[in-house]
Amino acid sequence: MCGVFGAFCKNGSSVLEDVYLGLYALQHRGQESAGIAWNSENGDEVNSIKGMGLVHIALDQKQLASIRANSAIGHVRYSTTGSSGLANAHPITANYSMGSVAIAHNGNITNATGIRNMLESRGAIFQSTTDTETIIHLMAHQSHKPPLDALVDALRHLKGAYSLAVLLGNRLVAARDPWGFRPLVLGRREDTTYVASESCALDIVGATLVRDLEPGEMIVIDETGIKSLRIPVQASRKYSCAFEYVYFARPDSVIDGKSVYEVRKTLGCRLANSSPCPSAEIVTGMPDSGTIAAMGFAECSKQRYETAIVRNRYIGRTFIQPTQRVRTLGVRIKLNPIKTLIDGKDLAVVDDSIVRGTTVERVISMIRQEGAARVHIRIASPPVRFPCYYGIDTPTCEELAAARLDIDALRSEVGADSLNYLGIEDLLSAIGLPPSDICTACFSGEYLDGGEDNGVDL
Ligand code: AMP
Repeated sequence: MCGVFGAFCKNGSSVLEDVYLGLYALQHRGQESAGIAWNSENGDEVNSIKGMGLVHIALDQKQLASIRANSAIGHVRYSTTGSSGLANAHPITANYSMGSVAIAHNGNITNATGIRNMLESRGAIFQSTTDTETIIHLMAHQSHKPPLDALVDALRHLKGAYSLAVLLGNRLVAARDPWGFRPLVLGRREDTTYVASESCALDIVGATLVRDLEPGEMIVIDETGIKSLRIPVQASRKYSCAFEYVYFARPDSVIDGKSVYEVRKTLGCRLANSSPCPSAEIVTGMPDSGTIAAMGFAECSKQRYETAIVRNRYIGRTFIQPTQRVRTLGVRIKLNPIKTLIDGKDLAVVDDSIVRGTTVERVISMIRQEGAARVHIRIASPPVRFPCYYGIDTPTCEELAAARLDIDALRSEVGADSLNYLGIEDLLSAIGLPPSDICTACFSGEYLDGGEDNGVDL
């Protein structure tokens, strides 16, 4: 998963510090590497700084503040295709025959392998293993066309998920795939226009949210203003990712007009109605991912809410760890129950999701060690049974707990007294967008065009 950010200032002021701040706000979308690209003043050469790790480690804020550039893009990365080295850090940049280009990409292009094989058979030499580089090669193969037309033409061939921030010379371009898998918003502060994966990144630079990009929309920003174009692909329906609301996005973001915080609270409320836990003396959330849903659960069931499990704030997301051993250790380092709150009590513990089942199993065992009488697990989304091909890092079916086991077997494996999930109908109604606009592939297995697709038509 990744985050993208872009800024263009009409009056020539430098935007690199804003891009740095925007990436800071998007850090939850990727912690492996970060990068910023900007253009030389005449617009014919692209420069970039990239590094491994968190934004403040990968990028030098002081150095960026000293560089003058009125348009720039940035990226935070957690790899879902390609390995995690610096060569794969975004933005991916190139100076080709028609000018300079830099691309920051969130999402997975599902037919990238097919496109790459085809281009390599025609002599293309790839510098990275990212799916994003295929866009630049597709553009270079249209070298008779102006860069913007070449970009539109490249996007026409792609399947799957892409929310892009692109620099084409001095222009800032943003594009959201025709299915709208990943979020992408437009914002403004005085003379500066912004694009960002999530609206929380606009807040940090003092910009207001103008609107979400439409699925299939491309926006071109330059001195003359903002132009909106369409990517010439007919999508049969939208596939806006449900998991952004469930887990991935920050709660202070608004996606496609829906507050992530409000959706999470409603998920908890629906869960309290569909899977009540009347014996629970305390409702608590798995921090931080289950906290808001737990508050919604307690509010609707009129039960007592307590922060009974405390999180060490200086540890990253458990899931984003390279090995199972570190993942397992991570949970123990990260979470600590408060004994006086749970000793001898019946607890309802709410979390957003179960992926491999590591977190929930560890937490139940910790809570029991602290004297909990009964532990009821309530999950504020349906069972994750299918891998995501569109940019969320989920393991294979064999590793997904709910794909391996039925719910009762999973309850027994993780050691819960009861385990209940939210139904898919409740998930969709809590999000509040038309159900046919939402991608539920990780829960339902209903993929765009049947799933991974390397089909290519060049
Ligand atoms: P697990 O321990 O593998 O069951 O992971 C479940 C926990 O990881 C849940 O509490 C979620 O909050 C979180 N999670 C779910 N999906 C992801 C993801 N794609 N990346 C990082 N964390 C995730």
